[in-house]
Amino acid sequence: MIRPYVLADTNWKHLKNENFELAVLPWGATEAHNYHLPYSTDVIEGTSIAEESARIAWEKGAKVIVLPTIPFGVNTGQKDIYLDINLNPSTLFAILKDIITVLNRQGIKKFMIFNSHGGNNWKAIIRELGLEFSEMFLCVSEWYKLADQGAFFEQPGDHAGEMETSMILHLAPNLVLPKNEWGDGAEKKNTISAFNEGWAWSERPWSKISEDTGVGNPELATAEKGQHFFEEVCRKMAKLFVDISKANIEELYQ
Ligand SMILES: [Zn+2]
Repeated sequence: MIRPYVLADTNWKHLKNENFELAVLPWGATEAHNYHLPYSTDVIEGTSIAEESARIAWEKGAKVIVLPTIPFGVNTGQKDIYLDINLNPSTLFAILKDIITVLNRQGIKKFMIFNSHGGNNWKAIIRELGLEFSEMFLCVSEWYKLADQGAFFEQPGDHAGEMETSMILHLAPNLVLPKNEWGDGAEKKNTISAFNEGWAWSERPWSKISEDTGVGNPELATAEKGQHFFEEVCRKMAKLFVDISKANIEELYQ
């Protein structure tokens, strides 16, 4: 079925007289996720959630279009992990600028980065592009932050843990290795406590903090948990799509 809210599906016949309010760009990464999840984990999650959220929003009348997912993200900390593909932050800036230049020229003034990878940092980029494209409304959302993961998972984990393993068991179970192949996602902490407390930051060299590339134990992951979380995330995200689509961006604050 051709989904009118997914750019990769639709066609010029439908688009030549269309007027979208909001464009959503899922942005993932291609990287190892413990031993057992696919390199496309962040791409599968971001694409599936964005498209399902857009479906719900579209049925409520929101004029939203999901652009094709960017498959590569910032993986500067994984340079020695085989085939983790890195785009530098300045490359993200350049790609994003080209894309919003098209949207701005064609009158789609509301834009959301649908971030699916923790290494992609958007605030500084949005601040700078926001000055340049001052008639646009630019925002970012991070689906993994929008629901209380603790309500859905025993130990959600940061990377390829219970949450992400559950999500892929739900979304692409044929791509998950059997449970006896899963690593435990044990994480080595920094010996300087400030970095663990979150008020000092330094990039973690991934291969030094995790043996299996995971951070968080996937052991209790199930497809059912993944489905419940997916549905909750899409429900809330769809409301955000509707809210942004209908909002007058000149009158956001009262
Ligand atoms: Zn991930």
